[in-house]
Amino acid sequence: MTKVPATRFEIEAQNGEARAGVLTTRRGRIETPVFMPVGTAGTVKGIRFEELESLDLDARIILGNTYHLWLRPGIEVIKAAGGLHRFIGWDRALLTDSGGFQVWSLGALRKISEEGTEFRSHLDGSLQFLSPEVSMEVQAALGSDIVMVFDECAPGEASHEETERSMNLTARWAQRSKTAFDLLQGNGADTGRLEAHGLSSRQALFGIVQGASHLDLRRISLEQTVNIGFDGYAIGGLSVGEKKPVMFEVIEEIAPQMPKDAPRYLMGVGTPEDLVEAVARGVDMFDCVLPTRNGRTGQAFTARGKLNVKNARWANDSRPLDESCRCSVCRRHSRAYLRHLYIAGEMLASILLTHHNLAFFLDTMRGVRQSIRSGDFPKFRREFTEGLIANGE
Ligand SMILES: [Zn+2]
Repeated sequence: MTKVPATRFEIEAQNGEARAGVLTTRRGRIETPVFMPVGTAGTVKGIRFEELESLDLDARIILGNTYHLWLRPGIEVIKAAGGLHRFIGWDRALLTDSGGFQVWSLGALRKISEEGTEFRSHLDGSLQFLSPEVSMEVQAALGSDIVMVFDECAPGEASHEETERSMNLTARWAQRSKTAFDLLQGNGADTGRLEAHGLSSRQALFGIVQGASHLDLRRISLEQTVNIGFDGYAIGGLSVGEKKPVMFEVIEEIAPQMPKDAPRYLMGVGTPEDLVEAVARGVDMFDCVLPTRNGRTGQAFTARGKLNVKNARWANDSRPLDESCRCSVCRRHSRAYLRHLYIAGEMLASILLTHHNLAFFLDTMRGVRQSIRSGDFPKFRREFTEGLIANGE
């Protein structure tokens, strides 16, 4: 008996290792490579859902954070609302992380055991416990379309021994995640079920490859993860303090060895140039807080590098943030006006910069996809990098 899949993934064009394809979820088609805006607490900060759906941005999938939503408003509130899609008013696809990374980031506030992670809530200091089983239960209650396994992340500079111990724990947690996940799918705990043609209507579950910067451990972790078997595979534990060449060495070694017929997701990375470089090494999916977070601190991403909107040199500059950007902010507003809003502490500064930054990330990925399909990705990559370096501003 063939099992009906939760998602379908088809590669339609390839340039070297770079792949262009379509990931079909129960909530729509997602062209890959794709950038997923991060909606930490049930909101992509600083932008309305209508804008995310607009042709300017057209985000097909966004992230939700299990850790944050679990602590506040809590799963009872979200369950009562009928799941995260209904609670926030978003019909397109949602991916939720497992909470593992957030809990890991708490540092001294957490205690890891075989069973799971005990930690103090950053909100009220209360003692909490997160495990593969709890994470799967929360993600089922959220009803996201793609669920991530509960993993442990080793620090970027972790020793071989320390990383190996952590990686093996991640493998055991991955198996426990899958067992708990299957049980929850069977008993109807998933609030996001949706009939979609040719798909199973259940959530998809992605495994995570760990192993820090140790390539031998990365290879073992990949094997352990593939042996358990998931709908997609992620590379975790990068962009956590290791140097950039180290990060790319890991991606270059691991991504091409990941199953060819499943989506490959690089978690928490990165700048526009990181995205293009990781696509060149075979990655299909990305998420990062950079466009939204930097938008709130006055930094714009442009085809000619980063632009600090606070800079006095823009005081009388009538040009848009990015002269090659077609987003609604660049069509309407000048650097001088955006600088004024930022200096005056107006909330519109954050809103407009966030909009442009997301448009820039999503448009870059649109360009990446088109160039792979037309066989021009090497040229796109070269010109994109040259544009960023040119930075004549
Ligand atoms: Zn723009």
